[in-house]
Amino acid sequence: MEEQSKTLAVSVRAKEFVSYHCSCCGHCCRHIENCVMVESLDAYRMAKHLRNQHCGISSTDDVLLRYCEPMPLTDEGYPIYVLKTVGADATCIFLRENQCSIYAARPRTCRLYPFSVGPGERGRDFEYCLCFDDNQQHHFNGGKVLVKDWLYHNFPKEDKEFLKQQYLVIPEIGRLMHRMPEEMRQAAVFKILFYHYYHFELDQPFLPQYEQNNRSLLNELRKLAPSE
Ligand code: SF4
Ligand code: SF4
Repeated sequence: MEEQSKTLAVSVRAKEFVSYHCSCCGHCCRHIENCVMVESLDAYRMAKHLRNQHCGISSTDDVLLRYCEPMPLTDEGYPIYVLKTVGADATCIFLRENQCSIYAARPRTCRLYPFSVGPGERGRDFEYCLCFDDNQQHHFNGGKVLVKDWLYHNFPKEDKEFLKQQYLVIPEIGRLMHRMPEEMRQAAVFKILFYHYYHFELDQPFLPQYEQNNRSLLNELRKLAPSE
């Protein structure tokens, strides 16, 4: 297998211009084994999009089973999903003739690329970074983008609200998992998968469901973790 590429991320501000032009080479959609995380909101959007395409998808369960792989993110087993890949060059399962076949519903990581977002500091909600990796030779010339415009088009309000909730809830889940007896962790993993990925009605808005799911999840995890 080819060695995983090394990525350097450099902080950027919204008012900065960055040299960038996508030549649609598809390079960033290859060699992505275990790299592209599918978050709750991504799975929900992909399920809605694919349901409308009449691909035999009617729920987030279908998307996760067919297109994603679960993997543990932490030593305690905190579960996430990543996109499945195909072939010797670990190509994203959604890449067709160098085009993303779910472009309108691609995961947030893909929409923001080559930028990325993380928790903010000093009163800011978010920090933004620019990734320098093996793909940079394909897109760091031939045009310029204003970071603010990029974020306006690719990081909408729903994603921001989702991430703000996620940044609050994940540390709490981590603390509870760390505190609970090891034999309870498998049960905790199933509860996280259920409330973060499966327990969504596609015909209802995402954010209120995510908020309610997080409340239910934390209540259930607290029962598995002894109080301090
Ligand atoms: S590697 Fe860069 S130029 Fe090629 S498809 Fe990805 S973003 Fe576009
Ligand atoms: S979902 Fe689309 S943009 Fe993202 S890696 Fe796959 S093909 Fe590329």
